[in-house]
Amino acid sequence: MKTPGKRLDVSKLRDRLRLAQGPYFWKSLEEIAGTEGFREFLENEFPHGAEQWDDSVGRRKFLRLMGASLALAGVTACTRQPKETIMPYVRAPEEIVPGKPLFFATAVPMGGIAEGVLVESHMGRPTKIEGNPEHPASLGATRAVTQASVLTLYDPDRSQTMTHLGEISSWDAFMGEIREASAAQKSRNGAGFRVLTETVTSPTLARQLRELLEAFPGAKWHQYEPAGRDNVKEGSRLAFGQVVETHYRFDKADVILSLDADFLSSMPGSVRYAREFAARRRVDDGRSQMNRLYVVESTPSITGAKADHRWPLPAGKIAHLTRVIAEAIGAGERKQEIKESSRLPVDSQPLEALTKDLQGHQHRSLVIPGDEQPAEVHVLAHAMNHSLGNIGETVIYTNPVEANPVVQMESLRELVNDMEAGKVDWLLMLGGNPVYDAPGNLRFSEHLQKVKLRMHLSLFEDETSALCHWHIPETHFLESWSDLRAYDGTVTILQPLILPLYGGKSVHELLAAVAGQPDRTAYDIVREYWKSQKAGEEFERFWRRSLHDGLIANTDFPAKQVSLRSSVVRHPSPVAADNGLRTADSGPGPLEIIFRPDPHVGDGRFANNGWLQELPKPLTKLTWDNAALLSPRTAERLGVVNEQVVELRYQGRQIEAPVWILPGQPNDSVTVHLGYGRTRAGRVGDGAGFNAYAVRTSTAPWFDTGLEVRRTNKHYALSCTQHHHSMEGRNPVRVGDLQEYRERPDFVQEMGEVPPRNLTLYPEYKYEGYAWGMAIDLNACTGCSACTIACQAENNIPVVGKDQVAVGREMHWIRVDRYYKGEGDAALDNPETYHQPVPCMQCENAPCEVVCPVAATSHSTEGLNDMVYNRCVGTRYCANNCPYKVRRFNFLLYSDFTTPSLKMLRNPDVTVRSRGVMEKCTYCVQRINAAKIEAEKADRQVRDGEIVTACEAVCPAQAIVFGNINDPTSRVSKLKANKLNYGLLAELNTRPRTTYLAALHNANPEIAGKAKDRG
Ligand code: SF4
Repeated sequence: MKTPGKRLDVSKLRDRLRLAQGPYFWKSLEEIAGTEGFREFLENEFPHGAEQWDDSVGRRKFLRLMGASLALAGVTACTRQPKETIMPYVRAPEEIVPGKPLFFATAVPMGGIAEGVLVESHMGRPTKIEGNPEHPASLGATRAVTQASVLTLYDPDRSQTMTHLGEISSWDAFMGEIREASAAQKSRNGAGFRVLTETVTSPTLARQLRELLEAFPGAKWHQYEPAGRDNVKEGSRLAFGQVVETHYRFDKADVILSLDADFLSSMPGSVRYAREFAARRRVDDGRSQMNRLYVVESTPSITGAKADHRWPLPAGKIAHLTRVIAEAIGAGERKQEIKESSRLPVDSQPLEALTKDLQGHQHRSLVIPGDEQPAEVHVLAHAMNHSLGNIGETVIYTNPVEANPVVQMESLRELVNDMEAGKVDWLLMLGGNPVYDAPGNLRFSEHLQKVKLRMHLSLFEDETSALCHWHIPETHFLESWSDLRAYDGTVTILQPLILPLYGGKSVHELLAAVAGQPDRTAYDIVREYWKSQKAGEEFERFWRRSLHDGLIANTDFPAKQVSLRSSVVRHPSPVAADNGLRTADSGPGPLEIIFRPDPHVGDGRFANNGWLQELPKPLTKLTWDNAALLSPRTAERLGVVNEQVVELRYQGRQIEAPVWILPGQPNDSVTVHLGYGRTRAGRVGDGAGFNAYAVRTSTAPWFDTGLEVRRTNKHYALSCTQHHHSMEGRNPVRVGDLQEYRERPDFVQEMGEVPPRNLTLYPEYKYEGYAWGMAIDLNACTGCSACTIACQAENNIPVVGKDQVAVGREMHWIRVDRYYKGEGDAALDNPETYHQPVPCMQCENAPCEVVCPVAATSHSTEGLNDMVYNRCVGTRYCANNCPYKVRRFNFLLYSDFTTPSLKMLRNPDVTVRSRGVMEKCTYCVQRINAAKIEAEKADRQVRDGEIVTACEAVCPAQAIVFGNINDPTSRVSKLKANKLNYGLLAELNTRPRTTYLAALHNANPEIAGKAKDRG
């Protein structure tokens, strides 16, 4: 192992940032410091080995490597693809036309809650997930994890056989055991029988569980979700005396206060929230109003990155700040001016301006607490929303979407206690992976082994399966019938698009089997439930319409009138203490530990998904690992550097984790992401990262003080993409303030110089027909990275693995760059953060084309910078000449040509590239051509909006718009005519067809320093 690298001198970094002239954007601390490692990476980014040409030893080594490659694979660019056999239909199904995909509506379960989708199916193979425009939680878009869920369907590591004590067994043998166990429990009324599920919103499953409990009255149903929403439920129970669901209307909110709530990415309904939020950020020539977002957060998030004012604060101090704000706006009897409050965790002046802003927007403001913040913060947020008149306007209450909204940590603890006491004879686990993800202090796996009969239904034979007598392979949601509720209660009937690839049973079938009906199918069970609900209606019509639309009409819950309990009206803040809940104010302690689900692998369930593992995390840009996230100041205090392994000691347990220094992280708080350190995830996920659950406790599952950090001399290499594809020193992001825009709408144009069109040696080419172009609105983009995964799924883009990412060889055709900006001390402690998606710019004067010796990259008459893969000989001159660094070279045979299930995933409209080939974005040329063919058949022009690129389709914020720039009425033409529009590096005279709309801040003019220090 390497020893840790050199420490960054944070005070020197601050000095450099203080001395920086003009707007200064930076990607990493190493870049500001100009470290050797950073320079080395930039210099070596392109021709690895090129610097060796002057060195005779190095040159010999390079040629030897080339020789090895040639010997292994023939001539690099002429690799033959493996021979494949195709099988025609003997009798083709009527509805299938070869080459024409079909789309089916269904829903993706995310923490038990539905996200409505349309799934594209090619000849019976689901290949791509799109959002369902009719579904309230989707509105046509999806999240990155939803996009990637199709890869899990084909994962060759999924469980393929039923096992008993680790040996292959059969359904009949399993049923024998079920009958025996049922008979034994019947005689005891089910007193020793326990069922453990994840969050249940499925009406059919809820009924099955209820029926099971009726049959076994002494049995208990427990629920546990490692990233569950206990605080949300408990907060509403304390505030209203009952559990209710809270929805937010960002389309109506002028002023938003987020209390550690990452509502743009990780809450139920976040796709819709992102759409509504972004729509209120959009500034076009006719409108110059924007919402204003204040964020207090304990871990940098994409929501914090969009904030107009952001305060990084330890998670344990957010309740105190919330209390101060609540008192200042008069939520409760006690009204106290901010300046009268003691121990203010942030300056009083901006807080006063914030409260004034909220009060000035009665009925049009919104206070949103984070799921991880304690119930007390939720109670205060409810009280504030009531006080601000937001209820029924920007805040809506409904019945809970969970079938049985219990406090899940309590439920799990009760189960563990029963197991420990020997009260559990038979435990049936329907999904979930508690052996891996239960808090370490509960010692779940130890107590589990006291249960006499343990059964586990799951998609993978995972850590929990390994400790069970029986493992039953579960069907994927694209293989089975079910139903689920969305965040607002809307029900979708899940329909299968493919027969189970590896056999398996759905949760409905397994429960039916336990109830003595082993032959009932999920289809029958779900249909029968809905038949019982729709008596009197024409059922077949209802069923077909619901399947077609992807939702059951009028199943969303109506708004509910609830009143704050009188004690809350009087004293919103002491409620938690009165009820014996742990208050959020952290006691004295050296450091705080914060637990968060990983932005991409979540609680660990997506750990074996290579697309998600390789997707750079929105803020850290780390891939394939988690890390202990520290602020620059805390890292300096502890004397640790990036990639240095530290020991995290908390509550008598410890783990080792590599350090990652994250600007914007609160001082003295260490965030660890859950979902890593898996041992039985599969070939992709095993061994990646460290397991933070090992130190998590059931009493403080989200944060606590009392963390000790001990340095070690070990080094752990992380693969981070923040230096990759750098357009160093060129300020690619343009940013301004809304006020500045109103006063000087041309300010964006003044930031760069565009050369005159005649400044070229080439004759002007006139694009007579279509001229394709794209506009990306940085003001709307949230940096969620869903576009990267959508592009990967659409264009058969391979995963390259951690080691290849480390040398800059990730293959994403659209990357999302993250930049920091800031002046003075705020630059490191609380920088402005921007995200910029970068696909190919499709330059009209494309620097890549003129250097290609074989014309493999050339220009189309519609302005596309095309790639002819078969012609590419892999010289990589084009990549060297691309100032945007958007070309990706297949250094190795990255695409998996041999795993049968992965072949089924491929989009047949796009090639699967082999090694030695340069590849890149072509605006989804396959989608362009399909639309052109349809238009030609109907003897018409392609309509605006008819071609939707994969990145455009998925974007929750509608930040990407594609279309014909020769049509002045097209949406893309209008965006390009916007005064905020600019070309990236347009000063190079490349004439990019992809352009950007500058980002704007809507800073509160009453907050000192305005946009500059953002709080
Ligand atoms: S452009 Fe990409 S990163 Fe930005 S919001 Fe849309 S999908 Fe997310």
